[in-house]
Amino acid sequence: MTDIRVRIAPSPSGNLHIGTARTALFNYLFAKKNNGKFILRIEDTDAERTSQEYIDNIFDSLKALGLNWDEGPDVGGEYGPYTQSERFDIYPIYAQKLLDAGFAYECFCTPEELEAEKELATANKKPYVYSKKCENLTEAQKAALRAEGRKPAIRFNISKAQKAFHETSELSFDDLVKGELKVNTDLIGDFVIMKSNGTPTYNFAVVIDDMLMKISHIIRGEDHISNTFKQILIYEALGAEVPRFGHLGMILAPDRSKLSKRHGATAVSEFVEKGYLTDALINFVALLGWSPSDGVEIKTVDEIAADFRINEISSSNSIFEYDKLRWMNSHYIKMLPIEELKQKLLPYLTKYDLSQLSDEQFTRIVEITREPLILLSDITDAVSYFFGEDVEIEPEVQSEVLDTELAQQVLTEFLKQAKDWNFDEETLHEKLEAFRGEFKEKGIKPKQTMWAIRAAVTGRTKGADMTAILAILGKDRVFKRVNHALKQKV
Ligand code: GLU
Repeated sequence: MTDIRVRIAPSPSGNLHIGTARTALFNYLFAKKNNGKFILRIEDTDAERTSQEYIDNIFDSLKALGLNWDEGPDVGGEYGPYTQSERFDIYPIYAQKLLDAGFAYECFCTPEELEAEKELATANKKPYVYSKKCENLTEAQKAALRAEGRKPAIRFNISKAQKAFHETSELSFDDLVKGELKVNTDLIGDFVIMKSNGTPTYNFAVVIDDMLMKISHIIRGEDHISNTFKQILIYEALGAEVPRFGHLGMILAPDRSKLSKRHGATAVSEFVEKGYLTDALINFVALLGWSPSDGVEIKTVDEIAADFRINEISSSNSIFEYDKLRWMNSHYIKMLPIEELKQKLLPYLTKYDLSQLSDEQFTRIVEITREPLILLSDITDAVSYFFGEDVEIEPEVQSEVLDTELAQQVLTEFLKQAKDWNFDEETLHEKLEAFRGEFKEKGIKPKQTMWAIRAAVTGRTKGADMTAILAILGKDRVFKRVNHALKQKV
């Protein structure tokens, strides 16, 4: 059995897209499940669209998701280099082989000539297929064109390859996800494999690299199916073993259109900045096509790998439900050990002076505010009243809660009694219980009593454990805020 070797081959023309992350994950899972190798290759042949920033983003995002590669640009490996722009001397060798074997030819057509062909096809309502005008140029004709200053591109000769390896013009392959897929190769034009500037096109470079890197299985999006037919013919023309292919359905937005920025975040780093946990993200994207055999959706990557079978991947499109991701994220936040959660929340707390707090206080704040968090970034607002002397009170909280006779009475009484209290949680717990009891006897619900205190101290009507809040704020600040709330009454 051949060794299982799979790869992810992103083009660094943008930040790592969540769809690419899913493709990377499925390749990674397939490698894990089968004791194979997962390889990262950077496809940067298009220098104009490539940037180092995007390359770094791809590296960082894959690492953050835990999709570590066995071979790649940074870690090396037996079949490097793993960046296409460092392999430019390799591609012409194989292009020459195809030229020598008659499976490719030089094409001197100018962009204007090609445009004219395309326009003619459009006018005749026919799909455009290159005319093969340059297929049989003689050496003398080529020399004359060169003398004009034209530089040839190299085109792959589809019909030649098809005839050499297949009886009819039908080309088919058994897709790991979608089953048998076929095409009539008469409809595929002879495509360029090497541009006139000497750089390879995607369809050519990808075959040479996958072949030389001994990739056994190619798992990628179904938008590549039309490329796969072209690529199979190149493998055959080079006498190379054709890898197995598996094409994943697309990821669509909830409105069934292509997932794009207008639906929300699309890059992994954007999700992370917004406060999604990478563990939640990876779990969520696994479910875009894969379903757990036991129906339990919350799973670690290792658990998913153990249960992963490529032929059970859904061949249809998946819908990217942002709401489900949000739910999953809140679940993962709830499950995080407190110390880890504290670390992960720090980037969202930079506007506060955390040095005002002891580690114990910070821990307590996180403990009491974590429950309703959906995104890590929700913490910024959730803890705002723990900082600074005063608290901002929303006008409705003032008018609807604090300005009521009841609240004024509760707060006045609170100041009277609490001046003798110790503001540790244990004492406060006891004292507040008794305090609520006194009001209850007067027919006031404990909830209403606490409502007034909460509103004065936090400026809100809902929130974290009141005893803990009072203890963390300390008596001075609590009194200041309660006094202020009383004075505000109009
Ligand atoms: N660089 C290609 C892309 O980002 C890779 C496609 C493939 O997996 O062959 O779409």
